[in-house]
Parts: sequence; structure tokens; C-alpha cells
Amino acid sequence: MSARDDLLDEYGHADTAPLGTLSELKQKLDAYRVEVLTEAGVQYEDCTVCGAAHSVGKPCGTCEFNARMAAEAGVKATPEAAPATEDTFPAWLAQRFDPNSPPWDVLDHDGRTYWQHEAAAVRRAVARGGFKNDTTTGDNT
Ligand SMILES: [Zn+2]
Repeated sequence: MSARDDLLDEYGHADTAPLGTLSELKQKLDAYRVEVLTEAGVQYEDCTVCGAAHSVGKPCGTCEFNARMAAEAGVKATPEAAPATEDTFPAWLAQRFDPNSPPWDVLDHDGRTYWQHEAAAVRRAVARGGFKNDTTTGDNT
């Protein structure tokens, strides 16, 4: 029995036979379409989604490929670590608040460490909006 016969058998008597679900009907119509195309000697049809040609009755390879690429791109879309950029804030502080300081490039280790410590302290202070609220320690850096 062909898909056409199945359709006629079931839906030709719609007043008495159950119609089934829409997806069941679509499946049967698809089967009938494949049957008609195959009998007509058509080997390829245009995908209704992307328009690419694919074998009659077979899933669209282009759509499958696109879905796979999208899935893999989704995995790779996770943010990669941003390239580390040099923190110039300590150097800026040194230049701004100690005009007699040697240029950052030639500043010794202790000098750099001092301004890096100050830069961190400034950032912490800015983040909290100024002085610490906790006055019990007496440490307001
Ligand atoms: Zn397609």
C-alpha cells in the first residue's frame, strides 16, 4: 500500500475516521510528496528552510551543517581571556604626584612597588567611595 493509498484510506473518510494530529498529517503528506517526486524521477528537491538542493526524502545536509556549526560556534562564543594590558595607573600616579620621580621605565623596583601599592589603595578607595566606614582599626587606607 502506498502513502497515497494510506492518505485516501484515512482521510477519504474523514467523517468517520479520526483525523489524527497535525504532525501525523504532515508526516503522511511528506511521505506522499516523496512518493510523488520519486515516481516523477525527481532525485533532488529544494529545502524549504534554506533552499539548498537535497535528496528527496532525506534531511537537508546544508541545514544539518548549519545547525552543527551554530552549535559549535555557541560553544566557542564563550568569552576568551582578554589579552593582558599593561597597567599604567601606577606610572600615571608617580608622574602626577611625584614630578621628581624618574620615568617609570627606569624606576627601580622599590619605586615601582610603592606606586603599585598606592594605585591599588586608590582603586580600593574609589570602589568604596572614600574612607573605610570601619573606624575601629584606624587604618583608613
Ligand atoms: Zn536546508
